[in-house]
Amino acid sequence: MEIVKNEASPEVKAKPPPRKRRKAQKKKVEDDEYTENKIFANMINQKFQPKSGRKKDETPMFEVRNGRATIKNSGNHEQTVSRTLDYHMNKLFQWEEQSDAVESAYSCALCHIDGMKRELFGPYYATHNPVKHWPTFLTKKPSAKKPVKIEVWFHGSCALWAPNVHLHGSQLTNLEPQLDIFWSQTCAVCRKNGASIPVQNKKNTFVHYPCAQNKGYKLDEHALLCNS
Ligand SMILES: [Zn+2]
Ligand SMILES: [Zn+2]
Repeated sequence: MEIVKNEASPEVKAKPPPRKRRKAQKKKVEDDEYTENKIFANMINQKFQPKSGRKKDETPMFEVRNGRATIKNSGNHEQTVSRTLDYHMNKLFQWEEQSDAVESAYSCALCHIDGMKRELFGPYYATHNPVKHWPTFLTKKPSAKKPVKIEVWFHGSCALWAPNVHLHGSQLTNLEPQLDIFWSQTCAVCRKNGASIPVQNKKNTFVHYPCAQNKGYKLDEHALLCNS
């Protein structure tokens, strides 16, 4: 028995060194992470910490009550977090007027229908260089051959049904190239441009959202197209 024990122990002892090294590397990563987190925490504290509060939002602790451990954040943590979230939400939905943009008619940039009932969303801005298909129904074409920023408004449904345009915070992404495409497409119903919804099984046939609705076309919300 003793011989077996002696034979086995050197083998076990031979293994630790590489494990030790791994552990040391891991510790280094953790330290870097900690330092980085600490820097961010300080930045958030500086910006969002309530001015009246005396306690800094510091390291959270475990609090054990009735044998159950819960994380207890220090001082004004909840307040700091809600201030941070509010700030980012406000920034995301902030509307900024861009005075260098060409003013346009208060009509939907896709279906041409004017926003009599103040139902249009916007203004959104799109810079075209150059505009291949100028929307004369919105505003006069400028004579200068330089990049033009134009103000545009949309019906909620018209924007929602426009392929490859996505709402990101307060902005519509990919608007410039898509508008150029939509303004080149004529609606199969009303014959005006700005048609964005492709008609299934009909090549190069597009319609406006209200036109599709008026004609009783079946709209397929998963594919952003319709059946005539
Ligand atoms: Zn519209
Ligand atoms: Zn139409």
